[in-house]
Formats: sequence, C-alpha cells, structure tokens
Amino acid sequence: RNGFKKESFILSVDVGTTTIRCNVFDKGAKIRGTCSSKVVLLYPEPGLVELDPEELFNGFIAVVKGAVQDAGVKMSQIVSLGIATQRGTFTTWDRTTGRPFHNFISYQDLRAIDSVTSWNGSYTMKLRQAVAEDTCCFGTIDTWLLFKLTKGEVHATDYSNASSTGMFDPYQMCWSGPLFSMLSLPFSILPKVEDTIHSFGSTHSSIFGVSIPIMALIADQQAAMYGECCFDVGNVNITMGTGAFVDINTGSKPHTSAAGLYPVVGWKIGEEVVYLAEGNAADTGTAIKWAQGLELFSDVQETSAMAYSVADSDGVCFVPSFSGLQAPLNDPTACASFMGLTPSTNKCHLVRAILESVAFSVRQLYQTMLRETCIPVTKIRVDGGVCTNDFVMQLTTDLIGQKLARPVHHEISCRGAAFVAGLGVGFWKDKEELKRLHTADQMFVPRQRPWSGLPTSLSLSLSLALQRPLCRLLF
Ligand code: ADP
Repeated sequence: RNGFKKESFILSVDVGTTTIRCNVFDKGAKIRGTCSSKVVLLYPEPGLVELDPEELFNGFIAVVKGAVQDAGVKMSQIVSLGIATQRGTFTTWDRTTGRPFHNFISYQDLRAIDSVTSWNGSYTMKLRQAVAEDTCCFGTIDTWLLFKLTKGEVHATDYSNASSTGMFDPYQMCWSGPLFSMLSLPFSILPKVEDTIHSFGSTHSSIFGVSIPIMALIADQQAAMYGECCFDVGNVNITMGTGAFVDINTGSKPHTSAAGLYPVVGWKIGEEVVYLAEGNAADTGTAIKWAQGLELFSDVQETSAMAYSVADSDGVCFVPSFSGLQAPLNDPTACASFMGLTPSTNKCHLVRAILESVAFSVRQLYQTMLRETCIPVTKIRVDGGVCTNDFVMQLTTDLIGQKLARPVHHEISCRGAAFVAGLGVGFWKDKEELKRLHTADQMFVPRQRPWSGLPTSLSLSLSLALQRPLCRLLF
C-alpha cells in the first residue's frame, strides 16, 4: 500500500541520559532488533557534567549497526531514521572542520548556577574567534548527530528540541531576540529550526554503506508523549527516568506558568503545533543510582521487594534534591537529605524512603500541573526506567488517585521517534493507525484509602513543603 516492495523498517535512536538505545521497528510497531550502550558522563569537577561529542557519535553509530544486525535485516531495508535526544545538552563546533570546541555541557551541569558570567568565561579564545568569523555552529545533541551523519551538510534542529533549550520563544516560535542580545550571541551560530517531521537529509553513504533518510528529530520527552499517543488536549505523560517529568498536552496554545512549568513545543508537523506544559524533578533515577553506589543494594530490581519488606520507612524521609528543587519550589540551593534516622533504621527503610520520595515528587508535580493549567486530564501514561518498579508505581497511583497504565515496553521515546519517522515516509498513515498499534498495558489502580498504611507519607509531604526552611535550618 505504501509502495515499499521488500519488507521495510523504521530505525529509531533514543539518546538518553544514561543509555543510547536503537530499535528497529516493523510495520506492526514490533521491535525486531535492538542494541544499546551506556552514555559515558564526564565529571571534570564537582557540579560539572560533560559528554565527549566524538565518543557519543561513535556510540550512536555502534548501536545503529548493532540493532540492524540484531534484527537480521539489511541497512538498505531501513526507510527512515528518527532520532530522540536528551534535551538542553549542547556543544559548539567548527563548521569547516567539524571539530568540537569543547565537550557537550550536559543539562545536569550546574556551572551556570553561580553566575552566567563565569560560565561565559569558560569559552575558549578559539571559540570566541570562530563566533567572530562566523564559523561556529551551536547545537544540541540532535543537531550534532545530524551534522555528523550528513558529513557537515546540514545544520538544523526541530521545534521540540529548540524549545527545550530555554533560548527559544515558544510564543513567537523563533529564537529569543532579547535573550540573544542580552548574552551578546549572534543568531548565525544557531541551527535552522524545522518541523519535527522533515526531510533533514540522509546519512552519508560512507557511514552505513547506504544513505538512510533522516525524517524526524524530536526531543526525548516530547518523543515519549508521541510514543504514548498523547495526541489530545489533557493527555498526560509521566516519565520516571534519570529525572521525573510530568507533561500535559495543552493543545495549540503554550501555557504560561507561575509555578515554573515549562511551555515547550511538543511537535510541529505541518500546520499542527502542539504545546506541552512540563514540570520536572531532576533527581529520580539519580537518587536510586546514588543508593546503589552506597551499596544499599546491588541491583535496582531488588529495591521494590526491599521497600515492601518493611511496613513503612520507620519515620525516615528522603529529600531527592541533589540538583536543587524544581517546580513548584524552585530552589537551586536545596540539598538532598535523609531525615528522621534512628538506631532502628535499616537499609530497607532507607530504600523505601528513597522510592517514596520519587512518588511524592511526581505527586507534587502532578498537583501543580492540575492547579495551574485547569485542563481536565483525559488519560495518563507512564514510562521511564523507574516505572518498572512496582512499589513506586503503586504508591504513585495511590497518591495521584488515578489509574496508571504502565506500558509493556517502557522505551517509549524510541517508539515516539519511530512513529514520527514512519509517518514522515508514509510507513504509517496517520495518528489513528498509530493508536491502533498500541500494545497492552499493565494497569495500576489506586487503593481505596490512599493514606491508610502510609504513616510516613504525610511527614514526607510536609518535609517537601517545608523544604527550604528545613534546609536552611539544618545546614
Ligand atoms: P534515561 O532515559 O533518563 O537515561 P531511563 O528511563 O532508562 O533513563 O531510566 C534509568 C533509571 O531507572 C536509572 O537511574 C535506574 O537506576 C532506574 N531504574 C531502572 N530500573 C529500576 C527499578 N526496577 N527500580 C528502580 N529504579 C530503576
């Protein structure tokens, strides 16, 4: 029907915070091959988080080759490539040589907090000169990968990625003029902003042996919304990965927030522009990883059972704020802490308190979103690595008081990137067809009296509300 003679496939890559994952999708949206590798994060100094651009590109190429091999298909059977990327992380490089001036500065990096001036000072002289000579390109991960995959031919991004940089005006749908003049940055370093589905170019034939059309770029959180078919106003997606995100589809209008929800472009496809209001809590998976580093457990899979093995957290509260607190508290100086420790506290109590903090953070974001947008919620989906944790899922369900659907495959950003890439070449016809491809979910239902049996919940809730004064008092 679509004019593809031999069986054809869609390739999608999700460059997350911890993992680069590539999946090969068939017409039924089944994953026919997969490959992933770890993202290597560099910590040159406390608070600084960087990624090596060349290493990231090589990792990208390796997972693409690995997934196509795993699927047992030929590169020439791939009809479209979609790329979902972590957001805000950026680098700059030389347009002529393709060489980066510095590492990617991760969205987790805290160097800008003290002063933007000192951050600006970390620019090398070489970079300043390139900006003056107009050979400097600025780009987020999608833009860098596109530039490399097309061997320097294309310097572009899409609206979802641009709007997630904080330098794009979602109301005017262009790079923010006031911001750029304030920072004395020229527009010439910026990538062209295109629709989410767009013929961005093709991979250079020397890379995979054939040219693969790059038909879609989309930011990872927006890709998750798309992968969950959250196409309509009031659809909500909750991601519990490295950080937690709550996104609501606000339709054709950006939402202006007082509490600190971000108005981002979900996607722009032709005339359709869909906006999201997004709240995030930076530390979710990071808190769990931190506990693993302390050897509170050896495998994250153990944590749900550990939390269930005790009746409650024995009064222990954990405040998950290694990177400050985001909306609605918005305090970058808040520090992470355990409270309520007693001689009877054991590892299971600590683990339970950490997992509870994830659910409470999500609840706080969800309630902020409800209060601010006043949009009736029409469906809620959940994804991200931490959603595989039954304890967190059930507690979140109880606290939100809504049924939560956990997808069978939680690699939803990859699926979203495949959906847009597939739509771009007519592999799938429309959003209705994508909805029909939806796989069965596991439902979590709120327990009748959400507050019973959760004595620590109230105190944790209070502790979050009192966050700032407590931190000041204690530290
Ligand atoms: P990202 O896309 O942000 O890189 P993922 O969505 O893949 O991240 O989630 C990774 C995080 O999920 C890791 O921090 C890991 O510790 C956490 N995680 C994975 N499985 C579990 C589990 N069963 N219980 C708790 N945390 C988990």
